[in-house]
Amino acid sequence: MPQTEPDLFREQLARAAALMRKSRHVVAMTGAGMSVESGIPTFRGADGLWTRHGPPPMDGFKRFREDPAGWWQRRVNRQMDAHMIELRDALVRAEPHAGHHALAALERAGAVQHVITQNIDGLDLKTGLTNLIEIHGNRSRLRCVGCGQRTSLGDFVPTEPPEPCAACGDVIKFDTVMFGEPIPADTMAAAREQIDRATCVLAIGTSASVRPASGLLWIARSNGAAIIEINPAETKLTSICDVVVRARAGEALSELLELVAQEKSVTGHRPPGPGSDVRSGACAGTMNTNQS
Ligand SMILES: [Zn+2]
Repeated sequence: MPQTEPDLFREQLARAAALMRKSRHVVAMTGAGMSVESGIPTFRGADGLWTRHGPPPMDGFKRFREDPAGWWQRRVNRQMDAHMIELRDALVRAEPHAGHHALAALERAGAVQHVITQNIDGLDLKTGLTNLIEIHGNRSRLRCVGCGQRTSLGDFVPTEPPEPCAACGDVIKFDTVMFGEPIPADTMAAAREQIDRATCVLAIGTSASVRPASGLLWIARSNGAAIIEINPAETKLTSICDVVVRARAGEALSELLELVAQEKSVTGHRPPGPGSDVRSGACAGTMNTNQS
């Protein structure tokens, strides 16, 4: 008898849960597909911001460095690219969805040790997730280009360019990584450490096409980590995945949480591993300090 779609979904989930259960260090990497269910538009794709508004210049960071005061002035006066205004307005309204909450619950259950997000919306932080690396920064923080010091934006809406960094005198920008801007070294090192420790990586809603973040997935693979893809569409990553769950993040993660919780109640515990050891906590602490 041919497999029905619900059968296939169940089978994919069961295989993913089994892989996670036997893996001692599970790292989840989330992409734009995770945020889209919170109403945050993607850049690419049929309804993407760039498809509708045209692609932005790919040298945004260079332009910022050449004229930071002008950049901030345009930002203050809302003279930004149309896609940036639409994105900003969506970010203000966005709340975590069931998938964000399920991911945080998987972390609490010890089934996921660390999350690397490519999203800048900060929605993971609203769920109580603790071991988080925001590899492209966070829209609600400012960062010094020189020394990398981060400060919370809070409710502050800039009406003029921020003062230069009190520590080193360099210019201040949003923490969000711009086009052409290197990922801050501390963030990249923390992400690489997690990828090198990973025995299993969940690639959730990522097209695996934005470098250098996407390269981490191939590093994980070459390290021997199992790769589980959760994505409604095929991606560049699909061919190297051990398990593919063809579903949106919200549904797949909610179901996965139920399955993993069931398995935990049967087995009583997860296999011990370095997932909860000191290194993990130290890494999270470093990131949290820098990002606060
Ligand atoms: Zn500085």
